[in-house]
Amino acid sequence: MSCDCLEKLEKKLVDEGIQFSNRKIMKARLRSIFAFEKNKMVRRPCIEMIVQLEGLKKEKTVEIAHGHCPFCGTLYETKEGGES
Ligand SMILES: [Zn+2]
Repeated sequence: MSCDCLEKLEKKLVDEGIQFSNRKIMKARLRSIFAFEKNKMVRRPCIEMIVQLEGLKKEKTVEIAHGHCPFCGTLYETKEGGES
């Protein structure tokens, strides 16, 4: 079972007129990736990991989905399905 914490937080930041750098937030989107849950595409929050690969000087950023909701603790029933 999923939760809707991502959408709730994004909406709350806008609806409550939260400011960032003295400007009202008009739209907010938490970093996330898409995953499959029971054949349905869903958004999952993720963290970024910076890796350096053998033979390359430039570092790469890899996104890793959370296994649980970082806000309410709900266990996600998904496996990573792609990038955002
Ligand atoms: Zn949640």
